Amino acid sequence: MPRRCTVCDHPESHSIDQALVGGAPYRSVARRFELSESSVYRHKTEHLPAHLLKAREVEDVARADDLLEQVRNLQTHALDILERAEKSGDLRTALAAISQARGNLELLGKLAGELDERPVTNVLTSPEWLELRAVIVGALEPQPGAREAVLSALEGVGNGNPRR
Ligand SMILES: [Zn+2]
Repeated sequence: MPRRCTVCDHPESHSIDQALVGGAPYRSVARRFELSESSVYRHKTEHLPAHLLKAREVEDVARADDLLEQVRNLQTHALDILERAEKSGDLRTALAAISQARGNLELLGKLAGELDERPVTNVLTSPEWLELRAVIVGALEPQPGAREAVLSALEGVGNGNPRR
């Protein structure tokens, strides 16, 4: 019996990977692409990291590096965002967004030892970053204060010099 993955075989597998890397819950991804939850979950845990590595090996070095760079940026700013959110009150949603970023960090952390340290450009215009940013900002919708703080912190990502 061939062990085919319905996600890997899916015509929109790239979009599915992007959604998962962007922090979308596998349940909602399964609904969106009409796949079973179990297959999306299995794909996320077993195939996605390999896909990112493969993307580097084959042709899409920039994409994999961008993803890693995004995670590095998020890691750098996570504590800053948390601090700002603490000052603005309700932390629940902000922490949920950071938790999603952490999930991506764990996923992409597997790549950290594999990728080069070559400079990355255009991180802020990459679709993956914009998608992840949208997830975080969207999650903060109910808390305008925290949302503003996060947006302000994210603006500093571009020049490595977060605004105070
Ligand atoms: Zn798969």
